[in-house]
Amino acid sequence: MNRRSLLRCAAAALTLSPIVPVSLQAASSTSPNTATRRVRPSDPSWPDAASWERLNEDVGGQLIKVKSPLAACGVAPDSAACQKIIQDLKNPYFIGDQAGGTQSSGWVDAWDPAPSVYAVAARSAADVVAGVNFARENNLRLVIKGGGHSYLGTSNAADSLLIWTRAMNGIVLHDAFIGEGCAASEAPQPAVTIEAGAMWIDAYDAVTTKAGRYVQGGGCATVGVAGLIQSGGFGSFSKNYGMAAASPLEAEIVTADGAVRKANACSHPDLFWAIKGGGGGSFGVVTKLTLRTHELPALFGAAILTIRATSDAAFQRLIAQFVNFYSDSLFNPHWGEGVTFGPKNTFAITMVSQGLDKQQAETVWQPFLDWVSGSPQDFTLASAPIIGSIPARGWWDADYRRKNLPNTVHTDDRPGAPETHMWWVGNQNEVGIFWHGFQSAWLPAALLQKDQQQGLCDALFAASRHWIVHVQFNKGLAGAPPEAIAAARDTAMNPAVVDAFALVIIAGGRPGTHPGIPGYTPDLAVARQNAGKIDKSMNELRKVVPDPGSYVSESNFFEQSWQQSYWSTNYPRLRAVKAKYDPAGLFFVHHGVGSEEWSPDGFTRSPKQNGGD
Ligand SMILES: Cc1cc2nc3c(=O)[nH]c(=O)nc-3n(C[C@H](O)[C@H](O)[C@H](O)COP(=O)(O)OP(=O)(O)OC[C@H]3O[C@@H](n4cnc5c(N)ncnc54)[C@H](O)[C@@H]3O)c2cc1C
Repeated sequence: MNRRSLLRCAAAALTLSPIVPVSLQAASSTSPNTATRRVRPSDPSWPDAASWERLNEDVGGQLIKVKSPLAACGVAPDSAACQKIIQDLKNPYFIGDQAGGTQSSGWVDAWDPAPSVYAVAARSAADVVAGVNFARENNLRLVIKGGGHSYLGTSNAADSLLIWTRAMNGIVLHDAFIGEGCAASEAPQPAVTIEAGAMWIDAYDAVTTKAGRYVQGGGCATVGVAGLIQSGGFGSFSKNYGMAAASPLEAEIVTADGAVRKANACSHPDLFWAIKGGGGGSFGVVTKLTLRTHELPALFGAAILTIRATSDAAFQRLIAQFVNFYSDSLFNPHWGEGVTFGPKNTFAITMVSQGLDKQQAETVWQPFLDWVSGSPQDFTLASAPIIGSIPARGWWDADYRRKNLPNTVHTDDRPGAPETHMWWVGNQNEVGIFWHGFQSAWLPAALLQKDQQQGLCDALFAASRHWIVHVQFNKGLAGAPPEAIAAARDTAMNPAVVDAFALVIIAGGRPGTHPGIPGYTPDLAVARQNAGKIDKSMNELRKVVPDPGSYVSESNFFEQSWQQSYWSTNYPRLRAVKAKYDPAGLFFVHHGVGSEEWSPDGFTRSPKQNGGD
């Protein structure tokens, strides 16, 4: 379906949307079909100092003036203060603690970090309500930020008011949770309630390290809970437990009218469905989420090795062998994470397992390792393969990691930082990265059929001539248990996720470069050149997957048919939910539901853009 016909369907769906509740009519004080311009500080109708002071009082003194963390560098790039901040920005926890901080430092020709004018550093749903009401009543551009990991830059915007949930990080476990109003229809289940601004490491610490249970979150320790859930969310073990967006049992959400709503299968089920994968920042401010928890397996493990092929022909043989091996032996709920194919004929395996001990994992890998060692003239191992497992309870336990696997984590060593706050060494290159390009595509499981494998292998090889190709098996749900598939179908995500055996990511950038900061400015010519190579690389895969789906969290800023790619047949229903709960478009993000009605900066709503091309 092309974009025009998709939007036609959306328009049809809107006419069928339920009547807007009275409490939501306040949110539609501006007609959706009238051109609207939000207010900037340079406009006469920007709120005066007394109005801001009243907001500050309403939020208990939590209104803060936002500045760029790099402000000192703007004034004096050679100063000690600037050098210190450049160092500090290598710590993702430090970045997360800055109201004006973003985990990525921008994206060439897409976005540069731009601090809001003010932020409500919310501590409660009441603070969020005050911020939402103030933004709506004063016609302000509103931004929401949790962990600040948006690759697309959707948690920062110039001339805006930010609702920053960082301090809302409480976590409560339940043995038997039932959603409000669901007593008649739902059995009680083990769950955890997490406030929106908590990071996944805090959830894992409470649920796994301390309580010995499992909750489905993301791979990166410092990603925010609400941001990840609303945009899909895959973790290392998603091939068994499914998508994080399929985990909520209930959400508390402040909608554009300033109401605090409990959304679950029994109350506001449409809104509940939309926030399960319909994209962050589009439907309201989520203040807390209750997620189902699962029994923890005894063991988590990993298989790590890098193989170098001595020629292109050998590399092609290696790709074919691995794809066949994956399809026969690894395409099941035990194995997640992925592999990379590099331009210099380097093949790196960084896979994880759940529920297998070391011996079982070694038995799985032995035939492939034998095949590799059988051709020493063609293949060399960069180092001895690591195949093993650890007690699952230790996986996110910073203390356990520091003692037993010290090379896998960095620790937030700032004075007073919680000892549980670690991050993966493997994520370091993404901290403060300026993106040159980032593209992703789901690979349908049909490509693993014996008669289609050659086409896939040729495409992977051709793509790897231009750029490093990451294939992440845990980010496609084909091969997952039926319960995980069924739960994923009950989300707003593109249904293609359940037919995909992997998400391929082709991306690159430069960490430690910061737009506008002398001495650290990104080389834009090189960035654009690399973007072109990433394009060429992905185009090779498009030969076998012409119209790939993807998910909003990890996708291309310049995605053309994003409605189709992220949400496909679910998009009309998402538009209907948006029209019901946020008819005036208070909540805007780049390529979010309903954003086609707005200018790219989210400041101008135009009837021309409303539903048209
Ligand atoms: C280093 C790194 C590693 C990553 N690893 C993974 C991974 O393993 N798996 C995966 O699935 N994704 C991963 N991601 C992508 C990540 O999940 C998404 O970018 C996610 O949306 C980030 O959430 P956040 O709160 O940290 O970010 P933010 O930038 O704060 O928010 C992301 C979006 O959600 C909105 N939002 C945030 N909080 C709320 C709220 N309370 N209510 C409503 N809207 C809200 C924001 O407005 C923004 O549009 C990774 C990203 C990075 C940078």
